Amino acid sequence: MRRLRLPHERPAEPPRGYKLAHPVVSHDDGRIGFAGVSIGGALPYGVLDEARCVYGRRHRSPALRCDCGFHCLHTLSDTLAMTCAGAHRRATLLEVTVLGAYIRFERGMRYARQRVRVARVGPCGCGLPPEVFVDAGWGRTGWRALTGACGSCAVGRGQLSFAEFARVGGGRLRVVAGHRREVGEEPASRAVPRPAAEPALMQARLDRLQGRWARLTGEP
Ligand SMILES: [Zn+2]
Ligand SMILES: [Zn+2]
Repeated sequence: MRRLRLPHERPAEPPRGYKLAHPVVSHDDGRIGFAGVSIGGALPYGVLDEARCVYGRRHRSPALRCDCGFHCLHTLSDTLAMTCAGAHRRATLLEVTVLGAYIRFERGMRYARQRVRVARVGPCGCGLPPEVFVDAGWGRTGWRALTGACGSCAVGRGQLSFAEFARVGGGRLRVVAGHRREVGEEPASRAVPRPAAEPALMQARLDRLQGRWARLTGEP
């Protein structure tokens, strides 16, 4: 069989993306992280982290024949649309930098490494903007999930301030109340200094292939 060769891409700076996750804090309060909302949710990741195959296979993520690796969407708008689903209403919306190898799809990417730059905390259960993290009442082994709460709903519950969460996470993470970008706020790509671009080792232009397929077959 002829080996499928995929075009490579070497962007001047690492691509940005958006995703949903639940903030978590380690049992000893010494580390913070995020638990994904889909596959891989059982294994929280740190602010700067590397993907591992969730099926325990011995390959680097992302592998073409596996669906492991970090996932993100290209646009804030598509990610906000996900927050309409009941289960995701109160999730935190992350803005990430995609590092290392990645596979580009029409609406998002699957990739090897990421840095979480901004965490946009979802609303309190009462609907008011969140002011602080409280225990969400669930977790993963070694990790307690957190959720945003307004000042009055947070009374009497174990609290962790957004600033403390960011500090434990290394200090470069920005934690913001609410999913939406504030009016007048600069896009993340211009608001922060640009790190040296890490090489994009691999890019499968599956969206392009899909387009070609559609033209050949007349199927969408
Ligand atoms: Zn895998
Ligand atoms: Zn509240």
